[in-house]
Amino acid sequence: MTRVYPQFVVAKFGGTSVADFDSMNRSAGIVLADDHVRLVVLSASAGVTNLLVELSEGLESHERMDKIDTLRAIQHNIISRLKSPSVIGKEIDQLLENITRLAEVASITPSSALSDDLVSHGEIMSSLLFAEVLREREARVEWFDARKVIRTTPLYGCAEPHLNLVEKQAETHLRPRLEQAIVVTQGFIGSDENGRTTTLGRGGSDYTASLLGEALHAARIDIWTDVAGIYTTDPRIVAQAQRIDHISFAEASNMAAFGAKVLHPATLLPAMRKNIPVFIGSSKNTAAGGTLVRRETEAPPLYRAIAVRRKQTLLKLHSLNTQPTHMFFAKMFAILAEHQVDVELVTTTEQSIALALNGTGCTSGNDNSLPTALLTALSSHCRVESETGLALVTLIGNQLHSSVGVCRDVFFELEKSCVRMICHGAANDILCFLLPDDVADDTISALHRRLFE
Ligand code: ADP
Ligand code: ASP
Ligand code: MG
Repeated sequence: MTRVYPQFVVAKFGGTSVADFDSMNRSAGIVLADDHVRLVVLSASAGVTNLLVELSEGLESHERMDKIDTLRAIQHNIISRLKSPSVIGKEIDQLLENITRLAEVASITPSSALSDDLVSHGEIMSSLLFAEVLREREARVEWFDARKVIRTTPLYGCAEPHLNLVEKQAETHLRPRLEQAIVVTQGFIGSDENGRTTTLGRGGSDYTASLLGEALHAARIDIWTDVAGIYTTDPRIVAQAQRIDHISFAEASNMAAFGAKVLHPATLLPAMRKNIPVFIGSSKNTAAGGTLVRRETEAPPLYRAIAVRRKQTLLKLHSLNTQPTHMFFAKMFAILAEHQVDVELVTTTEQSIALALNGTGCTSGNDNSLPTALLTALSSHCRVESETGLALVTLIGNQLHSSVGVCRDVFFELEKSCVRMICHGAANDILCFLLPDDVADDTISALHRRLFE
């Protein structure tokens, strides 16, 4: 009998939650324990995307073979634990052959389009295997190719979804299936108007889950990962970090945008638009509970969390004093726009502009170096200085801009660090600063101790 699921839940499992057979089996248990979970979005098994990215950058033959052997071992460790491995084993071997062929091409002529094609195999393989694990537990399952629905721009490595198309395709292709079976699909990957595979940027499976949740009006989006929720800072940096049980979309979205890896930066935007709560929990320890992100929380605290983003570049542009300040600013920003530079933060004096640029996020093209054409264009109008190896540390809170004592609290802990840039006042709820990466962890620990412990 066909059932209708108006209150359905999207469940997304990250790399560690599908790393091996036992993790997959545990995650399958989570899916089967909740009748409302009808759509499952998966990342590649842990480590697989990194291997595929390396292959896509072009490697020597022996290195290539080593990586492919590692990939094969990850897949076959899972396959060997299945009750009926032969059909799925052949399918995965076929995909491993594709990978081998594409990696060979990448070693001669690497390209971002080829990279996305290659990298997408990680999610294709994990989703096929996970569907099989569910089937062996007697579930009614359908594997679905997310590229049919996640239609994007052709910006390979960092594609943007076409929201209207995603909604239309999800309604046509996914909605009817949800009523028949548990649908297992891939996070992170999409396709452009020519049908070529694209990816949404590193960590993009979270974003897929919320895009599909939005398109299909899900009642909740569950993000299952290796931590039991969102913490006051990355628990890998500060062991004393505390789990936040309830957090608002705005706060969590700021955390994600400023580097809290637990969520892809864009994850909460679709959820916010449709007011869909997002739960984050640990697939290895469901009893530990998690964080619920929703529109409002009671009594938002002054200080909510500290996030960090590595691989930042500071670009300083000094006027040659040959033109008035407003012309200098206009010219500099026009050049940055022409070269499509994503500026994260800006501070200025009359004669200088300091810009923080983000070097993380995309699957390809994130080698952190500034394009020569940009530097040449800027240099003909100003003196340019740049510095890499920086970390952007952000304090996220509420009404930080108008609260007494914030500067004292923060700057007291920055006394020993050589801060390169500070941004406070532009946004009400964040205060960020750029400092050398090697002192970031100590600074975060000290700040966390003062503000949260
Ligand atoms: P997945 O593969 O499941 O998507 P990720 O590695 O992308 O998992 O995200 C989970 C990781 O995010 C955690 O292991 C943790 O180290 C990191 N993280 C960073 N900031 C936070 C935070 N504020 N709260 C919880 N985890 C965080
Ligand atoms: N597998 C992709 C990555 O490692 C996407 C994801 O895990 O969300 O970036
Ligand atoms: Mg992630």
